Parts: sequence; C-alpha cells; structure tokens
Amino acid sequence: MSVEENINRIKNNISEDVTLIAVSKTKPVEVIEEAYGIGIRDFGENKVQELVDKYDKLPKDIRWHLIGHLQRNKVKYIVGKVHLIHSLDSIKLLDEIEKQYKASDATAYALIQINIGKEESKTGIYLENLEELLQACEACNHVKIRGLMAIVPQGSKESCKEYFKQMKNIFNDIKKRKFNNIVMEVLSMGMTEDYEEAVEEGSNMVRVGSGIFGKRNYNNK
Ligand SMILES: *Cc1c(COP(=O)(O)O)cnc(C)c1O
Repeated sequence: MSVEENINRIKNNISEDVTLIAVSKTKPVEVIEEAYGIGIRDFGENKVQELVDKYDKLPKDIRWHLIGHLQRNKVKYIVGKVHLIHSLDSIKLLDEIEKQYKASDATAYALIQINIGKEESKTGIYLENLEELLQACEACNHVKIRGLMAIVPQGSKESCKEYFKQMKNIFNDIKKRKFNNIVMEVLSMGMTEDYEEAVEEGSNMVRVGSGIFGKRNYNNK
C-alpha cells in the first residue's frame, strides 16, 4: 500500500479531533515530502540530530515532535525547532530545557512521558515520581506542560487497553487539579499496532510510523 493509502486508512479509523503524527524516523526527506503533499504537517522523530537535519531541509510549517528520549546535552540543538517534546521524564531534563529555552527567550511545550509499565528497558518517569516533577514544572518560566505521553508494554490488546485506561485516569486526575504552567490537553499514546485501542481509551494524539511508511531499515539511513 502507498503512503497515501495508509494515511487515508488511518485517518478513516480515527476521529477528526485525534492528531495523527507521522513518525518519519530513519525515512528520507523525499518520503516526508510525499506525506507533506498529502497534507500531513505533524512529523515525529526520535533523534535530535536527525530531526534537526530534516528541519533544515523541509518546509517551515511542519510541526516537529520529538518523541524519543532526550539527552540533556542535546537540548540546546532543538530550541525553536520542535513543536512538542513528548519525552520529558525527569527534573534534571526539565531544568536543562528551562535553562536553554531561557537563554533564547523561548518557550518549550512538552508532554510528560510516563513509564506506565515500569519497564526497565524504557524511559519515562515512574508514577511515584510524577508529583515531584509536576511541582518542578510549576516553578518554570520557559516550559509549559501540555499533557502526557506513554509507550505501553507489548502484549495483548486487552493488556494494552488496561494501560491506556490507567493513563487516561492519570490524565483526568491531573486535569481536575489547578497547576501553574500545566494544562492537560494532549494524551499522546498509540502506535501502528495499538493506535485504535489507544483512541478507544481516550488518546487524542497517535504516533504512527511503519503503518504509514512501511518497515524501517536501521542499517540504511
Ligand atoms: C518509532 C516510534 C513510534 C512509531 O512506531 P510504529 O510502530 O512504527 O508505529 C511511536 N512512538 C515512539 C516513541 C517511537 O519511537
């Protein structure tokens, strides 16, 4: 199936108020241009260097989403280039984002990534440390929190749905409270294999890569 057919199929499966992010990691700019031509403006990348390279080569109305782990020493490269950081997961990273965006008098928009399955192989903050991070976010002047992100453990549809449900509950709990700098607008969850379940459970931003662009080849970037 073509990129266009894939995008149309996915868009038919989700409602209009769900944002589809086309995850273009490892894919060349020509492929991104093809999706851009079909009307996609939200693209996801997981590596800072790759995102910045593509940012320079592609139209400036693209909204770039940094969906991969963000190392503190890379934050300085993304200022002014990223629409939404999906992977804020520690106070140390928050402090660095605040510092770098302050230096450019810019504002960073970010989602807090939660390691909902407590998987050691994955990044994201554990639930028991979330409160402390929320408090630190309240004290920032250059970082605004717009919601939550999660990658749920691989498993059956039922187990995925259970994790999505937990995320939605956390999202709603935070939404009910009043915080400085924190608004719960975006719940980023769901990928090629599980985006339909994610949307059923309340996701309003899905990140789909192989389901749009086909398999990734990590040897041939
Ligand atoms: C690669 C990636 C995706 C997309 O994965 P697919 O299974 O190809 O849809 C989504 N989210 C994150 C954080 C990713 O790194």
